[in-house]
Amino acid sequence: MMAESGAMPVRATKRGDERTPLDGERDVLICGASFAGLAIARELAGSGADVLIVDRYEIGERQTSACGIPTEWLGRLGLMDAERQRFDTLVMHTPHGDARYRLPWTFSTFDYRELCQLLWRDCDATFETAKVNGRAAPANGNGNGKISVETDRGVISAPLVVDALGWRRVLASGDGYQPPDAPLSRGLEVHPGGESDDLEIWIDRKYVPAGYGWSFPARDELRIGIGSFDPRFHVKDTTVELTQDLGKEPNEYQGNWIPHKLRRATEGSVFFVGDSAGHCLPLSAEGIRTALYFGIALGRELRSVVEGRQGRAEAEATYASFHDSHEWKFKWMLRVQKLIPRVPPRILGPLIRLMGAKRFIDWSFEHYLQIAPPEYAGSKWTGSADDQHGPDQQQGDPDEPLGRERDLVEAEQA
Ligand SMILES: Cc1cc2nc3c(=O)[nH]c(=O)nc-3n(C[C@H](O)[C@H](O)[C@H](O)COP(=O)(O)OP(=O)(O)OC[C@H]3O[C@@H](n4cnc5c(N)ncnc54)[C@H](O)[C@@H]3O)c2cc1C
Repeated sequence: MMAESGAMPVRATKRGDERTPLDGERDVLICGASFAGLAIARELAGSGADVLIVDRYEIGERQTSACGIPTEWLGRLGLMDAERQRFDTLVMHTPHGDARYRLPWTFSTFDYRELCQLLWRDCDATFETAKVNGRAAPANGNGNGKISVETDRGVISAPLVVDALGWRRVLASGDGYQPPDAPLSRGLEVHPGGESDDLEIWIDRKYVPAGYGWSFPARDELRIGIGSFDPRFHVKDTTVELTQDLGKEPNEYQGNWIPHKLRRATEGSVFFVGDSAGHCLPLSAEGIRTALYFGIALGRELRSVVEGRQGRAEAEATYASFHDSHEWKFKWMLRVQKLIPRVPPRILGPLIRLMGAKRFIDWSFEHYLQIAPPEYAGSKWTGSADDQHGPDQQQGDPDEPLGRERDLVEAEQA
């Protein structure tokens, strides 16, 4: 769990002399050990491949989000132990009225560290902390099919390389994709202690002109934040305002840029997944489920390469076409994301209530879930906490914020 308010975070990542040189060749190099990267490593477990996964922090060290996900995704992946709270309703607040939606499926908050550790438990890869700087020239020239990656601990090469590093897409050619001009949303949240039974969303221009505020309870803490679809809108002041409106004091800031447009799935023979491929859904900014979903898809393709059932080029083509097949859904959600800020506030309240009709909620939320359906994760889940399966079983400081993306928090303070 995150450190208590005022407590100094304990950094688990090795520093200084503890960071020994790291180089050599592997079968698969996965850069980024959060949702997307761990999902891939997990799919490769038991394949016999020499898989290395690197991250600048220890696994689970830096929470990346409010950690909300459809419960069934946790169940199907055998991750229920990380669940903190479950919700079957969603409370929508507007300045002109509120509505409580009864959801056709439940949504859960989870503990980031615990979830990452559970994913890691099912992997047989090697993990090292290293900061990835970008692509390096191959040690023995081009043409051997290996891709070389420069880290702060040395150069690592592999024929299969994945960028699961988040929106920066470090291993891409560098296309000048930077906020505030790139299609990135801005998200910031705090985690005061407290309890609530309600999963809540605010669509209120007093907090954000285009975007929403949230409160995601997680047993003994509330994850309260503001997301702005407009990267130019600074969300720090209104995150504080919403937190205080809820009778809490902001304690730990955690923020990041959130992509809301798909990017290329492969580039220069590197595979991109999760936020680095723009897999976070527009409108809802839900990117954990999709990072897991596309991570599983890519993991299956890579497994088939290391097991000799296909070549890298074939895996590139299949994965890219799977990614592309989702584009219309992402575009549709982006259209709604752009529409909502244009709805006059007086109409928004009645509209939100109208949309609460059971048939509409069931229809829209089921379609929404099907963008990255839980069944894709594989095993059956009946809803019972005992019914869990991992992949093997299936087949056989406000001033010194904890946030990973310090630059965003700094941008907020500017
Ligand atoms: C405030 C906020 C709240 C959110 N809440 C939710 C939510 O409740 N539910 C939801 O579904 N989505 C949520 N999201 C979106 C979600 O966090 C992302 O879409 C999701 O984390 C993407 O997963 P990922 O594995 O692709 O990337 P990330 O989780 O961003 O992981 C990238 C990993 O790469 C590592 N890394 C980055 N750069 C380097 C480097 N140069 N060298 C080495 N390692 C590096 C990082 O340390 C990190 O471990 C939220 C986002 C924000 C900002």
